[in-house]
This record gives sequence, structure tokens and C-alpha cells, in this order.
Amino acid sequence: MAVSRGATESSATPSAGVTCPGANVGGVRDPSVSRYAAGRLSPIRRVSDLRRLRDEQFDVLVIGGGVTGAGAALDAASRGLSVALVEARDLAAGTSSRSSKLIHGGLRYLEQLELHLVHEALNERGLLSTRIAPHLVRPVPILVPLTTGNAFARIGHRLYYGLGVAAYDAFAGVFGHGRGMPLHRHLSRAGARRVFPSLRADAIAGAIRYYDGQVDDARLVVNLARTAASLGAAVVTSARVVGFIREAREVVGVRVKDLEAPDRAEFEVRARTVVAATGVWSDDMSQMLSDVGVRPGMRVRASKGVHLVVPRSAITGEAGLILRTPTSVLFVIPWGGHWIIGTTDTDWQLDRAHPAASARDIRYLLDQVNTVLARPLTTDDIEGVYAGLRPLLSGEADSTSKLSREHAVVEPMLGLLLVAGGKYTTYRVMASDVIDRAARRLGGAVRPSRTEELPLLGADGYAAAWRDRLDTARRHGVTAGVVEHLLERYGTLTIHLLAMIAADPTLATPLSGAPEYLAAEVAYAALAEGALHLDDVLTRRTRISIETPHRGSETARHTAAVMGAALGWNKAVIDREVEHYLARVEAERQSQKMPDDLTADAARLGIPDVRGFAADRGVGLLKVDL
Ligand SMILES: Cc1cc2nc3c(=O)[nH]c(=O)nc-3n(C[C@H](O)[C@H](O)[C@H](O)COP(=O)(O)OP(=O)(O)OC[C@H]3O[C@@H](n4cnc5c(N)ncnc54)[C@H](O)[C@@H]3O)c2cc1C
Repeated sequence: MAVSRGATESSATPSAGVTCPGANVGGVRDPSVSRYAAGRLSPIRRVSDLRRLRDEQFDVLVIGGGVTGAGAALDAASRGLSVALVEARDLAAGTSSRSSKLIHGGLRYLEQLELHLVHEALNERGLLSTRIAPHLVRPVPILVPLTTGNAFARIGHRLYYGLGVAAYDAFAGVFGHGRGMPLHRHLSRAGARRVFPSLRADAIAGAIRYYDGQVDDARLVVNLARTAASLGAAVVTSARVVGFIREAREVVGVRVKDLEAPDRAEFEVRARTVVAATGVWSDDMSQMLSDVGVRPGMRVRASKGVHLVVPRSAITGEAGLILRTPTSVLFVIPWGGHWIIGTTDTDWQLDRAHPAASARDIRYLLDQVNTVLARPLTTDDIEGVYAGLRPLLSGEADSTSKLSREHAVVEPMLGLLLVAGGKYTTYRVMASDVIDRAARRLGGAVRPSRTEELPLLGADGYAAAWRDRLDTARRHGVTAGVVEHLLERYGTLTIHLLAMIAADPTLATPLSGAPEYLAAEVAYAALAEGALHLDDVLTRRTRISIETPHRGSETARHTAAVMGAALGWNKAVIDREVEHYLARVEAERQSQKMPDDLTADAARLGIPDVRGFAADRGVGLLKVDL
């Protein structure tokens, strides 16, 4: 492995004189630096951004690096405000890497006649798939199977869903900023089984095929944060907010603990406005103000959703499925060489950082999907399992699936805005709402949100790059499959990975145990995408932790070696990262054998978060030119 590094310094010690390309001066990017270079979340950039946190007063400080927080940081930075984003763990480590990965209007909301929500989400779907992130959001066909019954029931069913799906397409086309998706189509029983041979013939009378968007949720968040960084935002992960700084009855900043330097004291970050986009941790923010008797203005509840991942070969079909369940809906969605099956919807009051899936959750999902499959799935088919927590604004209804899916922005104390609720698809709307509020508070001439017009890094020129992919493959001496894989994950930033491979051909090596990913992706994650730990790479920069039956344990050592070469880890750090990852996988496996939430949570909690025991890692001044 020839990824080279020069002098090192401790990440805990931001040294004087280390300046990072693209470092922000007074809130806007240094114009002599390319947007791409400025958006590189490198280890050195982290050192420099940590120093900025200590030294500057920001217009807007965002807490939480999920899709809402990263979106808010981008919205603010693109209005010319000076911005900092702090995330306690990794970008998208919370709910935003654990969704069903759909960019959708929500057929269910149409059924509930929440038309404004459907309209808003379809508008976002159109923008994301055609302009903002066409490299990450693409159409996925989904079948609505029509159930059997007498002729009257069958016609009624087809009419009901047919009208619904037609309205969905019409909404998207007329009001939805360009559909960005093909139109729906009715299928007979035979037609449905041609598209989805694994459907049980006696379970369906036909189907309707419609399209929604699919996204790698964790990668879009990283892309948002990098685009914010490219416009001058300071972006620091492993930075937990532990308290607010108050002057009189106003919040004027936060106290932060750098979890990569656990022995170091907390430090203060000053900001004119603090935005908390902390999802299911929102109530913690209000509790930090409880000593002054502040009312939060909203409460956020957590509802657990579990997904299974099975190999593509376990089910034969060319489209996804949406199935009605007793409490909600179940999706079966194609995901590369896999299917994602989910989700459950149950109240959760246990550990929010590592929600655990129990054997009961898994059984429920298998039972539901098996109602329509010709060959029932068993636990032996399962490659991966993941659980996420929906941040739901508390409502009066008992069942979590009836709690409001809308978002809210509240200001429990001057200087502090909380934004929560909503869904992944509408992150941009949440972001612009909360930054509009921040702008009113900041006064002066803050321009309106412009994220509707702003392609993310890697989106510009994507259509042409896709068209020219065979030429690109020939020029770089790699297969067309490699270029397609990279384009669908990095967009036009693919050229940087290909340049790394040209400089160091060993980076073209497929990862052991997960050969669809290349060593270059690991090095790039560490050097440009802010990955600090092995877990960040195996779980969120790649999805190896859910896409392989070994859940990344057979890939861990190879990945750690590549990360280690990039980041200057010594053997002790590499061993510790690998041991932690293997222990995490084992704890998750054990939790998934437990009968219920309490026992599953206890099993998962045996392994603490990887953040917090990384004090002695080095940071390389890398010679690799990205
Ligand atoms: C099972 C499931 C399926 C879903 N499917 C879909 C779907 O297909 N489509 C869709 O549109 N939506 C979907 N959603 C909803 C969507 O995923 C969420 O609404 C969205 O991801 C929430 O993002 P967020 O940024 O608000 O929260 P999060 O992603 O949880 O981000 C909050 C962040 O705040 C950080 N944080 C917390 N406390 C602190 C602190 N003290 N200091 C610093 N940082 C802190 C956390 O570490 C976390 O990273 C789904 C949700 C679930 C659970």
C-alpha cells in the first residue's frame, strides 16, 4: 500500500501554522482554492476546522450531522453566512443512514389525504433526481400488488390504487418540479409475475408499477456536508455538544467535547445563532436548558424501524414491492445485489445511539414478506439487519405510525432554534425553514435560500460523465463496471478516485470479502470524506456492514490496513479498530437472537461506541494529491 504520508501531528493538537486548503476566512471560501479542494474533509481539514471552532464567532452553528443538520449547514453557507457543523459521532451516524433509502412522496400520505406533504415531497424528489443529486438519487420501480377476491373487490381495488398512483404521477408532473421518474403502468396477473416471478400466483390479481427515487442515505449526507464545507463551513465530527453558553437569557454558543481527544478539556464555540438538528436527541437539547425553566416548545419521540437485507438471488424480481401490513406498509426494494425489506414501526425508549433489532422484529418482517413470496424467506437468507429511529413530533395518538410526519422549527430560548420531524426526502425544506428563522434573527440582508439551484459536489456534468463512461474506463485501464460503480457513488468526483488509482495501482485492489468495493474508496473516505474510524467506512461510506453475510468482519483487517496507510495508524490503532468492529458485529448478532427490545438492547450495549478511545492516533500530512 503506497498511500504516502509525511510529517504527522496529533489530531488532538491543532498546531500553529497548519492551514488547510480552502480554509474559510470570515465566512466565505478562499477564492483561490477550487470548490472541490475546499470540500475535502481531510484529517488536516479537521485540525484546521477545530481551530476555527475555538477562534471564530459563527453566524450559525449547527448541532447534528444527519441529513437535516448537513442540509441546514449547506443552506446557511450558500447564503454567504459563516457556518460551523458539529456532529457527536460520524456524519449520518444517527437515523440518516438507517432509512428505507427512498426519496418519495409517500403513497401512504396520499391515502391519508395529506396532500400538502405529498406535494412537497414530490417536488423535492424531482429536484434531487434531476438537479441537486442525480448521481445519488435514481428511479426505482415499485409494484403495488392487487389482492385476489371476487370480481367486484378486484375491480374496486384496482380502481382505488390506480387512481392513487395516477394522482401521485400527476402531482409530481404538474406541481413536482419535473417528475424525474417514469410514469406508472397497470399490469395483469401474468404481467406482474413476469416482472416479479417470485410473487405467489394465488396471492395477487395483478399489480400497478410506479416509480420513486432511491438514495444511498449516508452518502448523500456526506455529500451535503462536503458541499457545505466547499462553501466555507467548518465541519467537525466526533464533536459532542455538552452544554450551551448563555448570556442573560440568550444562547450565544455551545460547549464541545472532542471525542477523538478524550483527555482534553471541553471548549467553547461562539455563534450568533445555534441550530439543533439532533433528531431523536432533540429533547436532550431542551434538557440542557432545564435549569432556567425553558419550555422546549416541542417533544420528539422515537419509533424504531428495522430492515433486513437479503441477497438479490433470494427473490426473483425486477421491481420493488409495497405491501400493506396490519399497522403500516412494508417495502421490498432492490438495492444493488441485494433486497432491503422493511420496516417495523414500534415505540423505542432504550439506547438511541445503537437501536437493536430483536428476533421478534426479524420474525415479523419475514412473516409479512412471506405472505406474497412463492419461496418463503428464512433467517438463513438474511445478510444484514439494521435498525433506525424515526424522530416523530409527539402527538396525541398512541400508535407511533399515526404521529405527525411533519416538521417543526421552535425557538425555546433566544439564540437557539430546534428543527425536527419531517423525513429524509424533505430535508431541504426543513433546512431552509430553520435558516430563514436564523436569518430573521441575524438581521441585515441575508439572501433567501438558494439550495434549489445548487447541485451538490459530483452532480455537475453527471449526465455527460455517465454517457462517456466507456471512454473513461478505456482511458484509465479499468472495467466499465468499475467506472459505473464509482459514478453511482461519487458522481463526477470519480475522476479523483481514478487519479488516486493511477498514482497508486494497488488502490484498484478489490476489498477482501467485499470485492465490489475498491481499496481506493477506503483511502478516499479517510482522505476526503471525513471517515475517522473503521466503522465509519464499513457502515456508512460503504455499506459493507449490511451487504455481506459476514457483515464486514472478513473485510475489516484489509480496510483497516488501507485506512491505516492513509491516516498513519500504527499497529496498535489498527488492531484496536478491528477488534472493536468485530466485537460490534458480534454484539449485533447476539442482540438479534434476543426475544424482545429489552434483552436485545442489553446485548447490543455490551459494546460501547468506538468514539472516545482514539486518543493516540496520528494525522498524516498526506502527499497524495486528490
Ligand atoms: C426505519 C426508517 C425508515 C425511514 N425511511 C425513510 C425513507 O425511505 N424516506 C424518507 O424520506 N425518510 C425516511 N425515514 C425518515 C428519515 O430517515 C429521518 O427523518 C431523517 O433521517 C432524520 O434526520 P435528522 O438529521 O433529523 O436526524 P439524525 O440523522 O438522527 O441526525 C441527528 C444527529 O445529531 C447528532 N447529535 C445528537 N446529539 C448531539 C450532540 N449533543 N452533539 C452533536 N451532535 C449530536 C446525532 O449523532 C445524529 O447524527 C425513515 C426513518 C426510519 C427510522
